Amino acid sequence: MSAASYNTLIVDLDALRDNYLAVSQRLTAATRIMVVVKADAYGHGLVSAARAFAQAGAGCFGVGEAGEGVRLREAGILGEIVLLSGMNPRDAAEVVVRDLSPVVYDRADLAELSRQALRRGKVAAVHLELDVGMRRRGLPPAAIGQLTMAIHALPGLRLAGIMAHFPLADVAGTEEQCREHWRQFSAVAETLRAGCSPGLQPPALHIANSAALLRFPWAHHDLVRPGISLYGYDNYDGYAPAEAPADPANCSPLPLVPAMSLRSRILQVQEIAAGSGVSYGHRFITNRPTLLAVLPLGYAHGYPRGVGAGAEALIGGRRVPVRGAICMSVCMVEVNDVPGVAPGDEVVLLGRQGQEFIGADEIASRHGTISYEILCRLGMMNKRVYQEKAKEK
Ligand SMILES: *Cc1c(COP(=O)(O)O)cnc(C)c1O
Repeated sequence: MSAASYNTLIVDLDALRDNYLAVSQRLTAATRIMVVVKADAYGHGLVSAARAFAQAGAGCFGVGEAGEGVRLREAGILGEIVLLSGMNPRDAAEVVVRDLSPVVYDRADLAELSRQALRRGKVAAVHLELDVGMRRRGLPPAAIGQLTMAIHALPGLRLAGIMAHFPLADVAGTEEQCREHWRQFSAVAETLRAGCSPGLQPPALHIANSAALLRFPWAHHDLVRPGISLYGYDNYDGYAPAEAPADPANCSPLPLVPAMSLRSRILQVQEIAAGSGVSYGHRFITNRPTLLAVLPLGYAHGYPRGVGAGAEALIGGRRVPVRGAICMSVCMVEVNDVPGVAPGDEVVLLGRQGQEFIGADEIASRHGTISYEILCRLGMMNKRVYQEKAKEK
């Protein structure tokens, strides 16, 4: 038995499918999509999101670690599953049995993977990551040749992909630097690919995340790796004015639809006098008689305490300001301007209500972070409810 929560985190599966189609329309037939579903699909739920993308046509999935890949296989997801954070050698047998494709960073991992593949008469697909400026995972161009030779030399392994990651694709005014990163990647990757046996399927080259996919058609190669765009956001704000979307709920020149929303209910409405301090530390003091609505939602639900003054919620189709410090499971909003406001009324913290919309990037900008982190926090800290049109009939 589970009692309903006041708060509902809604994931719109139609939006996920539509975003996948919107992204695919940016690509030529030569480019496939790896849908990035790491971090519980950016808080949208690993299995449900992967299923929605698969229904829309996705055949390649990017996760962090092996456990996430296993969950996808157990849920019946077919196609390629790439482990972007690589593989713990302890998991090599599982990786082979489940047909997961790790990015490999280390020779010792390769040797173990080869042994496990041979024992089972299978071929394990691996991807190589080249570091062209991210200084994160991957090997510099000078070191990647050795690892590539090890893949060719060890039995039971197949080089399925060669990848890199842009450090600056989401920063305006960086096109030249991105081009330089891409030049380095493609020169090395093309050389490595040319060294593969002509009889085998050549490795897929991939470098583009959402921002690069939208900004740089020249960087698409064989495979692109969108994450945030599939969830309805675009982390790049440097588009020319002509490309700016007309609808505020649509944050990209692509028709992307934010898939996550967060709703709550008013717990209590109370009228307080002018000059009253509100919440811990009395950081907000009323300057007029004020109607405060209390919401059963706080930082324990992922709504950041740091959003502070200026954060807004939607009640009765209007924007209302959050007042005072956000508590662990409670926060307050001022509702003087909402006619007939009453306990039980719906409150939208993230998403649309009537004509108004609050996006994850709006909450993020008040908190000094990016939409990704807000989606992860809210999605993982609330019970998710999935919504789709077909099911509403
Ligand atoms: C997370 C991730 C992506 C997706 O990036 P977005 O900016 O969300 O599109 C792509 N590639 C790698 C290697 C990643 O880790």
